[in-house]
Amino acid sequence: MHVEAGAIAAVEPRGDATSAVTLVPGFVDVQVNGIDDIDVAHAHGDDWRRLGRLLLAQGVTSWCPTLVTNALERYAEPLQRIQQASDDSVGPSIISAHIEGPFIGGAPGAHNREMISAIDLDWLASLPPIVRLVTLAPELPKAVAAIQLLAARGVVVSLGHSTPTLANIDAAILAGATMVTHLFNGMSGVHHRDPGLAAAALVDDRLTVGLIADLVHVHPLAIRLAFRSKPDQIALVTDSVGWRAGSIGAVRMALRDGAPRLADGTLAGSALSMDQAMRNLVQACGVPLDVAVRAASTTPARLMGLTDRGEIAVGQRADLVTLDDELRVTGTWVAGERT
Ligand code: ZN
Repeated sequence: MHVEAGAIAAVEPRGDATSAVTLVPGFVDVQVNGIDDIDVAHAHGDDWRRLGRLLLAQGVTSWCPTLVTNALERYAEPLQRIQQASDDSVGPSIISAHIEGPFIGGAPGAHNREMISAIDLDWLASLPPIVRLVTLAPELPKAVAAIQLLAARGVVVSLGHSTPTLANIDAAILAGATMVTHLFNGMSGVHHRDPGLAAAALVDDRLTVGLIADLVHVHPLAIRLAFRSKPDQIALVTDSVGWRAGSIGAVRMALRDGAPRLADGTLAGSALSMDQAMRNLVQACGVPLDVAVRAASTTPARLMGLTDRGEIAVGQRADLVTLDDELRVTGTWVAGERT
């Protein structure tokens, strides 16, 4: 491996290799609400440096800080801070802010129901350029116009927290939607007489799906079903939250039965890391390592329109991760710099 000016200049196997080190492209997590006790909506100053260190330790070299449902006027300030953190570019690259809500539908999960609102096209049109990924529900009035507006601006539109009709889904895809947010969670499912968003997402080649592989949000069998259906259209996400803080905004949560939950047991994001998600695929779901790595890196990079990363190939950014023989992260490089 030769790296020049932050990019991979040559790749050749080392004939003298004696240790069992696996080199993979850096992971890309498009859904991170927070980590440990930090919520990205409230992160300031040194919090960003700490978030960066925590992500690099998981092998994440590109990511999307994610803001969940809130009042429309409450997005501007966190989006400004995310833009600033992106400009400062410490640690892993911020490729977009991901706005999940407030235009969501029939399966709101842990989102604050009082803040869910009707689609506001003017508000969407005024979003700053740091927003390149929006999750919304296609069954809402004006969803098609919203998707067209966002897609025309180069924003990736993901369908989620939703119970749409099949006609709603098709209209959304024709309008430009390309993703489904955390497959199986927060959506209508795979009932054989009444197939919902999850079933459509599994069989429609126009859609890439996010997937939370903590083995709590989705059973290993359902993960296998997803990988049998579309192995190269699955983007692993952590959907991690800053659960150690005990609350996010006014919402109380605690870690119970393997994931952060509201008092009534509703799942509220995860305590997952990307390297653990990748290990879970390989070790608990029988997914081959190369397929798991594509789900952690190549697929989310391509979904976000990034062609300069997500692979180990000449010309790609040298965003690299080394794994030991138990698939634990032993080193992370961003643009050729060891972190
Ligand atoms: Zn969600």
